Formats: sequence, structure tokens, C-alpha cells
Amino acid sequence: MTRLTFDNAFVRELPADVEQGTQPRQVLGALYSRVEPTPVAAPRVVAWSAEMAQALGLDPAEMESPRLAQVLGGNALLEGMQPFAANYGGHQFGVWADQLGDGRAISLGEVLSPEGERWELQLKGAGRTPYSRGADGRAVLRSSVREFLCSEAMHHLGVPTTRALSLVVTGDTVVRDMFYDGHPQHEPGAIVCRVAPSFIRFGNFELPSARGDIALLKRLVDFTIARDFPHLQEKGEALYAQWFAEVCERTARMVAHWMRVGFVHGVMNTDNMSILGLTIDYGPYGWIDNLDPEWTPNTTDAGRRRYRFGQQPNVAWWNLSRLAMALAPLFSGTEPLQAGLDRYAAAYAEADRINIADKLGLAVCEDADVERMRELYTLLAEADVDMTLFFRALADVDPAQPSLAPLQESFYDDAKRQQHEPALEAWLQSYASRVRQDALSGEQHRARMRAANPRYVLRNYLAQEAIDRASEGDYSGIHELLDVMRRPYDDQPGRERFARKRPEWAMHKAGCSMLSCSS
Ligand code: AMP
Ligand code: MG
Repeated sequence: MTRLTFDNAFVRELPADVEQGTQPRQVLGALYSRVEPTPVAAPRVVAWSAEMAQALGLDPAEMESPRLAQVLGGNALLEGMQPFAANYGGHQFGVWADQLGDGRAISLGEVLSPEGERWELQLKGAGRTPYSRGADGRAVLRSSVREFLCSEAMHHLGVPTTRALSLVVTGDTVVRDMFYDGHPQHEPGAIVCRVAPSFIRFGNFELPSARGDIALLKRLVDFTIARDFPHLQEKGEALYAQWFAEVCERTARMVAHWMRVGFVHGVMNTDNMSILGLTIDYGPYGWIDNLDPEWTPNTTDAGRRRYRFGQQPNVAWWNLSRLAMALAPLFSGTEPLQAGLDRYAAAYAEADRINIADKLGLAVCEDADVERMRELYTLLAEADVDMTLFFRALADVDPAQPSLAPLQESFYDDAKRQQHEPALEAWLQSYASRVRQDALSGEQHRARMRAANPRYVLRNYLAQEAIDRASEGDYSGIHELLDVMRRPYDDQPGRERFARKRPEWAMHKAGCSMLSCSS
């Protein structure tokens, strides 16, 4: 088997919990606990990412070997692995939740790839840790399929994200009350091996800070900058300011990408915010079908809709402001932190303008185009229009003879279409004349749009279809969807069914429209 080179900086350089074992506890003065995965009955790799395997330097022939299944299922360790669960806190739905930690994720180690990249391998669903509290440390197949597919789909869509190497079925069952209605069921268990340069979250900094352990906070900040932000060159407090500003900027770019492709994270708690600005912790996320800024897929959040689509840029700012509060003890004044938060607002506005120019196929986004886009979003929401289909088809509108004809497929409701057709026609006329005056050629205009408006996204019902088949032991739906999502901006002849709008039946089916946190 290929030898992976491990360089476990996190466990080497940062303080560990002195206690052993998995009994639930408060872990003070330490950033992680050493804990091994709990073995499973019969691990089998049922899907894996060729791109991720290659990035790690793994031979594709090995990916389906029984030996690797043992490792990716948590039954065996490779030489050089030093498993641990990280200790972090977080604000959940706006409320400080104190210690959370990796309750079911166990990091195996940091691989140095042949290309010199650092990739931490982490098993999600690998068993209990000191942070599991009352829970079992496991994950069910349906949520694991969703994490596996979406991680890779987001990567190919060009959205910063943690990655997924493999999906393992464990041969064990896991008991979950999927609808929280008192009907627990046995479900197949699964483990995703997820991969990222770092899994450090805002919450890793918040916890020592909330406990007043500023020395520990400082160690983690210094470590993070040295390992994950080595290009930052300032010294002392100026370095911390430079780092925070970069975290703000990366977070802005990530959220702008979510808004571009219609992704709703669903649980933007600060423990689910990566310090690298990567999309992390795929739970009850969802994809926008009909463009509705009020929509959230998460049933737990259905009342207040804190994490609804249109709110995500504001929530990210709020989360960064929690991080700023946590870092405040490292600064003599608050100005550098405020400057970082301002950097977020500026970077988001900048990224938003790039989105507008991309999505509308313009050489640059002018001030009037910001307003133009706002009007369009309002119209699309009122007229019940599919976001992905609309923007993809908008490239087919002829600026010389604009008409709604290429956009007909994207409407969900005939009555609403008819009602809003005049306003949409008017918008289209104005847009077409803007395009005619733009510096881009017709071909450049269409190319820019097609590179930013995906033909394929991981619609909730598509993932659910793949899950339903996987639950019957047929994993081919996962493989096909993974393959479709490898080229989301290309028209793929024969795969039209993956680019359709949400069918009526999916409106109310569990997993297709609303999801609980049960996973
Ligand atoms: P999440 O909402 O998935 O980000 O999870 C919030 C917290 O609950 C994290 O600390 C998780 O590790 C923990 N958690 C979620 N599900 C489980 C589980 N089945 N077993 C142990 N811990 C869990
Ligand atoms: Mg989480």
C-alpha cells in the first residue's frame, strides 16, 4: 500500500487532554483529546473521490482494497496516524453553547501530499469521544451520502469547501428518530473520510477565550497562523490583525460563492465556521430551487429562519464578530478587529459585484447593475422561478431580440408566470440594451455566464433519490451523481434529467425540501 507521509503538527505542537478514554467531560487547558475510532462490523468503501485520492497520492487501485476499508472505517490505523478529537465551543442559533467539540469526528493525522500540500484526514461517525455528551458518535448513511456528495460537488462548483475522500458503510445500524417525533428507527451506519488543510473552526478560539484561558488562546492563534497562514509577514499585534482581516475576507468570498450557486448551509453556528473560509459540516443544507431568499431547509430553524438563504451574508458577519470578541484579549484596542469586520463588508460587496457581472455576463458590474440584479431577484422570487434554470438559460436570450422564450422552463407556477410576465419582459428589455452596450462580445458574454451559472447543482431531491437507492444497497446513484457534479458547468448530453427543476412530488417529501438535524 502507498505510504502516506504524516506530519501531525496539531497534536505535536498543541496541548492535549491529560485524561484518557471517552467518558464525557469538560476538557480544560487542552485543545484536543487523544481518542481512537471505535471499530465497526464490516466496513466497505462504497464511493470515493478520484480527485481527492489523487491529491493525496493514493493509488486508485487501492481505494477498494479491504485494507483501506479497514482504515477508512476506523478499524485500523496506518503508521504515522495519531487520532484525536478537537475541543471547541460555539454559538448555536445565536446562543453561547460552551464546550461542544468533535463528538463524532476523529482526525487521523495530517498527510503531506506528493505536491507538498497538507491534508488532514478526519473520519465523521467514527465513534464516541469525550465530546459526544449523550450521543453515540455515529452517523447514518443518508447524512453521510449528503456530506460526501456535496463536499465534492462544491469543490467542482468552485466553492471553497472541505473535501471528501470516501464513503464507507459500516455494516452496523444506528438508531435515529429522524423526525424527532418519538419513532426511532434502525438505519444503516456510515463514515465519511473528510479532508481539509485544517478543520479549525471559529469555535476553537471561542472556547479558551470564554474560559479566560488567554495563554491557550494565544497558542492556538500562533499555531494557526504559522501552519495555515504562513504567507502573513507582519509581527506581533499587527500580525494578528492581518490574520483576522484575511479570515474575514475568505469568509466573505465563501459566502458570496454560496449566494452565486444557491447553496443554503442551514446551520451557520460558529462551531460550523472554518477558519480557512471553507464550507464545513454538511448537515441539513439545501439548494435553492425556486428563488426564495426566505427559504431554509433546516426544520430546527423553521420558526425563526435565522439561517435562511438571503440572510447568510449577515450571519457570516455576526459569526465573525463573535470571533472578534474571542480574539479581543490579544489586542490592546478594538480598532484592528473593527477594521477586519469592515474588510468583510468590503470584500463581500466586491465579491457580490463579481457575482453580478458573472451571472449577467457583463464586462464589469456598474452601480446600476447592482440595482438591476436586486430588481431581478425580487421578480424571480415573486414569479416563483427556478434560480439555476433561469440563470443558465439567460445566456440563451438574444440581446438583439430579447424574449422570455428561452426561460419558460424555469417557472414553477403558470398563474404567477402570467402575472409577472410584463415586469419580467420589461426587465429583460433593459438588460438586453445593457448587454448590447457592454464591452464583451456575444461569445464572451455567454462564456462568462456559463462559467458562473451552473447547469447542474446537487438538488435536494436528486441526493435523496441516490440515498433511497443506497438504502437498498444500490450505490450506483451516488456514483452517477458524483460524476455529473464533476463538470457542473458543462452541458452533459444524456444527463438532462439531472438538470430539471424540482418535481412536484419533491415539494413535501422528507429530505427533498426540509431536513432535520438528525444525522
Ligand atoms: P452539528 O450540529 O452537526 O455541527 O453538531 C453539533 C455538535 O454535536 C458537535 O459537537 C457534534 O460533534 C455533536 N454531535 C452531533 N451528532 C453527534 C453524534 N451522533 N454523536 C456525538 N456527537 C454528536
Ligand atoms: Mg458541527
